[in-house]
Amino acid sequence: MRTFSSPGWLQACSAALLRGTLQALLKPVFSPRFSIPFQRRWLRGLAHSTLPARGVRREAAQLGGRPGEWLRARSAAPDAPIAPGAVLYLHGGAYCVGAPATHRALTGRLALATGLPVFALDYRLAPEHPFPAGLDDALAAYRALRAQGPVVLAGDSAGGGLALACALALREAGDAAPAALYLISPWADMRAEAAPARPVPGEAMLSQAWVLDCAAKYLGKTAPEHPWCSPLLADLRGLPPTLIQAGTDEMLHGQALALEAALRAAGVAVRCEVDQARWHVFQLHGGALASADAALARAAAFIAPQMAAARAPVQATHEVVIMGAGMSGLCMAIQLKRAGMHDFVLLEKQTGLGGTWWDNRYPGAHVDVPAPAYAFSFAANPRWTRRFASAPEIHRYMQDLALRHGLLPHLRLGTAVQEAGFDAASGQWALRTDRGDHYRARHFVCSTGPLNQPRWPDIPGLAEFQGERLHSARWDATVPLQGRRVAVIGTGSTASQLVAPIAAQAGQLHVFQRTANWVLPRLDRRYFGIDRLLARLPPYSAAVRWAWVQALEWGRRGFDEGTLARRGMLATAAAHRQRQVADPALRARLTPSYPLGCKRIIYSNDYYPALGRPNTELVTEAIARISARGIVTADGRERPLDVLVCATGFDTQQLLASLQIRGQQGQLLGEVWRASPEAYLGCTVAGFPNLYLMLGPNTATGHTSTLLYIEPQVQHALACMRELRQRGQQWIAVRPEAQRAYNEGLQARLRGSVWTQCHSWYQGADGRVAAIFPGFTAEYQRRVRRPDFSAYQFG
Ligand code: NAP
Repeated sequence: MRTFSSPGWLQACSAALLRGTLQALLKPVFSPRFSIPFQRRWLRGLAHSTLPARGVRREAAQLGGRPGEWLRARSAAPDAPIAPGAVLYLHGGAYCVGAPATHRALTGRLALATGLPVFALDYRLAPEHPFPAGLDDALAAYRALRAQGPVVLAGDSAGGGLALACALALREAGDAAPAALYLISPWADMRAEAAPARPVPGEAMLSQAWVLDCAAKYLGKTAPEHPWCSPLLADLRGLPPTLIQAGTDEMLHGQALALEAALRAAGVAVRCEVDQARWHVFQLHGGALASADAALARAAAFIAPQMAAARAPVQATHEVVIMGAGMSGLCMAIQLKRAGMHDFVLLEKQTGLGGTWWDNRYPGAHVDVPAPAYAFSFAANPRWTRRFASAPEIHRYMQDLALRHGLLPHLRLGTAVQEAGFDAASGQWALRTDRGDHYRARHFVCSTGPLNQPRWPDIPGLAEFQGERLHSARWDATVPLQGRRVAVIGTGSTASQLVAPIAAQAGQLHVFQRTANWVLPRLDRRYFGIDRLLARLPPYSAAVRWAWVQALEWGRRGFDEGTLARRGMLATAAAHRQRQVADPALRARLTPSYPLGCKRIIYSNDYYPALGRPNTELVTEAIARISARGIVTADGRERPLDVLVCATGFDTQQLLASLQIRGQQGQLLGEVWRASPEAYLGCTVAGFPNLYLMLGPNTATGHTSTLLYIEPQVQHALACMRELRQRGQQWIAVRPEAQRAYNEGLQARLRGSVWTQCHSWYQGADGRVAAIFPGFTAEYQRRVRRPDFSAYQFG
C-alpha cells in the first residue's frame, strides 16, 4: 500500500468545503427513507456541481446492446489516429443509483489523463434489475469492445465491485482478460458483517443502513457470499494487474486494503494507493481537488504500460515519427499540428510523458533557470507558483500542453524505438519498437536529448551493496529515508538540489564530493496571486520572459576571461560561500579548483547550509570501493549505509548510440559518432536523410534555458519538411562539407575556451567539447530558424 497526502491550506479548505457539501446534501438523501427514484434524481441534480473536464468530446452510443457514452480527448484533427484500446467504465451508486452522466467529471478526466477513449456504460440498476443484470450488461459491453482492441476495466464503488466480478466471469468463460483493472473505492464484499458497525469519521457519502438496503435490492435471492457479488471472497488467481485507490475517510477503506492483500496472496500484480483524509470516490472532484487530479494522473501512469503490453504490434505509416515525449518532442508535435501536419506519432519509452521531467523526480528537483524562460514563447504559463519551478509543476505544464494541443491521441507510451533505418528506395525511415511495432515515416525526429541514460559510478563493488540503491534519474519514492543512514555520491547540479531535502529527513547523510563546484545564489521567490493574474496578460508575460532571457544572456559573458560579468560572478560566488559556510575548513574544501563555467554552475540557497547540518558530513576522501554494508574511502574507513544515492549524472557518450540508427549507406550513427558526436547546427547529420535531432551535439549551454534552443530546432526541421514537399522529392540531407565546415568553425571557437579547462559531460571521449554551443542564443536562433538550403542536398 502507498499513502498520499495533500499539503497546503488551500487544498485543505477546498477539501473541507467539498466534504461538508457532500455531508450536508448527499449523505442524508442516500438513505432507505427516500425512494430510489428520488435518490437518482437528487444525485443527477447534484452532479451538475462537479466540474466536467474541458477538452473532452462526448458522444452517446450503444455497446453490447446497452446505452452509454464515449468520452474522448478532443483532438484538433477529427481524423487523428487513435491507438487501439479503450477503458470500459462502470459507475458507482450501490447498484441502485448513478449513471454515466453523474460521473462525467471523473470519466472525462480519465479520458484526458490516459489519452484512451472511455466508454461509460449505463448498465441496468436494481431494484428493477437485480443481480446478475448489471453484470450481464458489463460482460456484453466488454466483449463488444474487446473485439476492437485491449480494454481496461474500471469502476468506482459498486462499479469497482462489478468490474472485479466481470473480470472473474471473463476468466471463467475463457474470454480475453482485460489489460488491467482500475478500481476506485471498490465495494468488494456485500455481506452485512463487512460494513463497519460504527460510522467512519469523515465519511462523506455512505452509511451502513443505505449500503445494506441497496445490497438487499441488488442481491434479491442471491446470497451475498456469491463470488460475483462479493469478489473479495472469490478465487482471485489469474486476474490482470490491478490498481486500487481509496481514501482513509471512508467506509470501504478496509475493503480496499483487504482486497489488495487477497489479490497479492493470489499472485496478482496489485497496487493500492490510499489518500490521507479523502473520502469515498474523491476522484469525482477532479478540477477542484488537486488530490483527485493527482490520483487520476497516477492511474493513467499505471494504465499506460498495461495497455502498451496488451496492444497487438502496430504496422503503420506516418509522415513523421517523433521519438521522445519530453519538452522538445512536445514542441515538435505542437508545431506540426500548427502547421497542419496531423499525421505523426510520438513514441515514448517511459510510461508517462515528460522526458527528463518524468525521469528526474528526486526530492527537491526543480529547474535552474527562471520559470518564465522555461515556458515556450507560444505557451506562457501563468500558473507557476515560484520563480524556480519544481519538477511536478513543470510536469503539469507539459501535461497541460499535451492536452491543450490535442497530442494524446498521437502518443504511444511504453514504446521504445530499438532500430531505425533509412530506406533509400522509398525515402522513408523504417522503425521497429521493443513491442514489435513497425512504423514507416518520411521524417524521423529524435527528441531524446543528451541526458536520458543514467550513469552509475564506475566504483568497484557497487553491485555488492546490500542496502537500497537509487539513481537520481530513476527515483523510487517508496524507499524510506526518514531517520536512515544515507550517502549521496556526486556534487553536481542534481546533487545540489537533493542534498537539502534528504538531509532534512535522514538520520545521517554523507555527501561524497570528488570535485567542489561553483555555487551562486538562486534568486528565487514565490509568485503571488497578483503575479499570476498579470501573467495572464500576454504582453506582460512576454515582457517578463524577454527580460529574463536578456538577463541570462548577460550570464554568458561570465564565461569569458576579463569581463565585468565574470568578475561579478566570481565575487558573488565567494561572498555566497563566505556567508553560508561558517567553518573555514569546510569552506576551503568547498572552494572549486577549476575555472568558473567549465562545468554547469549551481544556483542554490540551501546546499551549503545543508552541508553544515549536524547530521550531514561532507566526505572529500576518495572512494576506494563499495562494500556490502557501505562505502569504503581510500583511508580504509567504512561508512555503513541503508541507502546509497547516486547523483552521478548521465551517460552522454551514449547519445543515440545505443539505438541502431542506420543511414543512407547502412552506416550506424553510433559508429559514425564513435570518437565524438557531430551534426550540422546540432540538427542534422550528413548521410542520415530526413533525420532531425533535437538538442543534438553542441547545442547545450551553461547559462540559459534549453527551450530557447529547442524552438529554432523545431522550426528548422519543419522548414526542411516543407521544402522537401515543395520540391516533390524524397529526401533531404545536409552536405558533408557543410557539416564539416560548421564543426571546424565551432571547434576553433571552443579551443582554449573555459569548457576545455576541466573534465565534464560537455566533452566527448576524446576530450573534444561536443555538447556546448559557444556563442550567444540570438546567434544560434538566427542561424537555425531559417535553414540555408544551399547546405542541403535533395534526392
Ligand atoms: P553531473 O553534472 O555529471 O555530475 C555528476 C556528479 O557525480 C559530479 O559531482 C561527479 O564528480 C560525480 N561523480 C561521477 N562519477 C563519480 C564517481 N565514480 N565517484 C565520485 N563522484 C562521481 O550530473 P548531474 O548533477 O546529474 O547534472 C547533469 C546535467 O543535468 C547538468 O549539467 C545540467 O545540465 C542538467 N541538470 C539540470 C537541472 C536543472 O535544474 N535544469 C538540474 C539537474 C541537472 P566530478 O565532477 O568529479 O566528475
